[in-house]
Amino acid sequence: MTVNLLEFEKQRFVQFCAELGEKPFRARQLMRWIHQSGVGDFDAMTDMAKSLRSVLKRDCEVLPPKVISDHTAGDGTRKWLLDVNAGNAIEAVFIPERTRSTLCISSQAGCALECSFCSTGRQGFNRNLTLGEIIGQLWLANHSLAADGEDARRVTNVVMMGMGEPLANFDNVVAAMQLMLDDNAYGLSRRRVTLSTSGLVPQMDRLGDACPVALAVSLHAPNDELRNQLVPINRKYPLKELMAACLRYIEKAPRDFVTFEYVMLDGVNDSVANARELIRLVSPVPCKINLIPFNPFPNSGYTRSSVPAIERFKEILITAGLIVTVRRTRGDDIDAACGQLAGRVQDKTRRRERRIAETG
Ligand code: SAH
Ligand code: SF4
Repeated sequence: MTVNLLEFEKQRFVQFCAELGEKPFRARQLMRWIHQSGVGDFDAMTDMAKSLRSVLKRDCEVLPPKVISDHTAGDGTRKWLLDVNAGNAIEAVFIPERTRSTLCISSQAGCALECSFCSTGRQGFNRNLTLGEIIGQLWLANHSLAADGEDARRVTNVVMMGMGEPLANFDNVVAAMQLMLDDNAYGLSRRRVTLSTSGLVPQMDRLGDACPVALAVSLHAPNDELRNQLVPINRKYPLKELMAACLRYIEKAPRDFVTFEYVMLDGVNDSVANARELIRLVSPVPCKINLIPFNPFPNSGYTRSSVPAIERFKEILITAGLIVTVRRTRGDDIDAACGQLAGRVQDKTRRRERRIAETG
């Protein structure tokens, strides 16, 4: 059987080379070829012995998820729609900016947490992505950019903000991030890898111990009553516990603040009173606030806050001394904006399921 080397964590490379009777430095070499140079063709690994290359060719492959489509939006945002089998599709989104290039990576096909304003949440949960499917998104992005002669625009930052709740797929996400951070793989600094969570408190503590990276927390509401509706996991881990977990995380984190994400929903969470309550809630936690204009999808039942409402909200927070940014909506002409991911494909999947249900 052929083994996909993208499924290998760092230790597995060492073990594998040992099984082949090779020295540990071969493991580093192999990792560098695959992850640092983005090479998937064993013949191109010219500093490895021919005999080893032929074993690798016989037994191994470097196989990222299959590309269903590859679109670039007017603003340069590029979205890969990827097949992860059994009718499941995920997305990776590349966002080039002047001084950095960010890749937004998915961690699950679907999501079980059912946030009411999120199209992934509406689709339900299919399964966790494997290590190879997670790191394969980064491999594929760099490989494609290099193949297009855009090597200079390689990914410099990763955000775990695509489909799924990364902390609900803890082991595979941590293994993937460890490769992102490894000098023999992607060599990104911990500050350039950001994980976004809806607030799984025990896993936030575990992450701080296992693989501290920059943390974003999807807050979206300034009190438990409203957050229970928007982010149902709040019923299990309410705001008091979440805020305490943020403080504990900062002690271990590469950055001395957390980012609170706050989606701007017209008439739901964008009032002056909401802003004042938010200031009180976050006051004990060193933080930055990222306001995300809601990205609509069919039958969401929500609308985006108006520009003046977003500005007013922002000004109130800034006046109270908070650092606030408003996320620029990128790639929305190709449905690549937050919360819009893979909507269309999944709709098709659900139609098929309905057909099967009707006929079966
Ligand atoms: N599951 C993780 C990470 C993925 S979502 C989390 O919830 O944090 C990345 C961000 O996009 C989260 O803050 C999420 O709440 C937000 N988001 C989801 N749907 C959105 C939508 N329709 N418009 C704007 N932001 C959305
Ligand atoms: Fe899942 Fe995040 Fe969407 Fe909530 S916002 S349903 S946690 S992907």
